[in-house]
Amino acid sequence: MGKIYFVTGTDTGVGKTVLTSVLVRYLRDSGVKARAVKPFCSGGRDDARLLRRAQSNEPKLDDINPWHFRAPLAPVLAARMESKRVKGGQVLGFLREKAAACEVLLIEGAGGLMSPLAEGIDSRDLIAELQASPIVVCPNRLGAVNQVRLVLAALPGQRRQAARVVLMNNVRPNGVALSNPKLLSEYLRPDRLVTFPRINWPAVLTQKALPRQVRRQLQFLNLKSDSPN
Ligand SMILES: [Mg+2]
Repeated sequence: MGKIYFVTGTDTGVGKTVLTSVLVRYLRDSGVKARAVKPFCSGGRDDARLLRRAQSNEPKLDDINPWHFRAPLAPVLAARMESKRVKGGQVLGFLREKAAACEVLLIEGAGGLMSPLAEGIDSRDLIAELQASPIVVCPNRLGAVNQVRLVLAALPGQRRQAARVVLMNNVRPNGVALSNPKLLSEYLRPDRLVTFPRINWPAVLTQKALPRQVRRQLQFLNLKSDSPN
């Protein structure tokens, strides 16, 4: 079984796909057999397509994203609108199979940590069941410290120590964007917090190499040092 990282966020639209796609590309460029999946898409499969592009278009789209629904709602609701019910066991089966076939599996959730995914499960349940290491993505703006601390508090207790936090910078980081990491560092180990620069995404995925600034930040996440799940 490979190491499992679960990319979640403080909200929807905060940069989970940006981070997951760049991260899988970074690991693959470093010679790690890494895979990225997004089990649930609702309202289009663009995220899954971008993850596919970040993996040299190798995996089939259905192997990245087996469950997809038309309505742009929480997946559990979007599924019910199509009279479909997805069970937790199916989702865990899919994710365990993928983790067994690689060294590092990156799972992108859908919405924020506690957005319902399927019948009776959210990202928190998957993190606990898979003993995954959470990566919490949050826009680096006013309010970030509160939002990050709320998500950390809501994580399964035994996985909280393994959590990483990634603050996504705006085009022009202002004063609060500089003070957020400082304040958060009072609550997190230094190798658990990274500020991610604004990048030309998704164009960056097709470039020959990721920008050095990006690689340096991802290195700080120290993903290879985690003990196996
Ligand atoms: Mg996304």
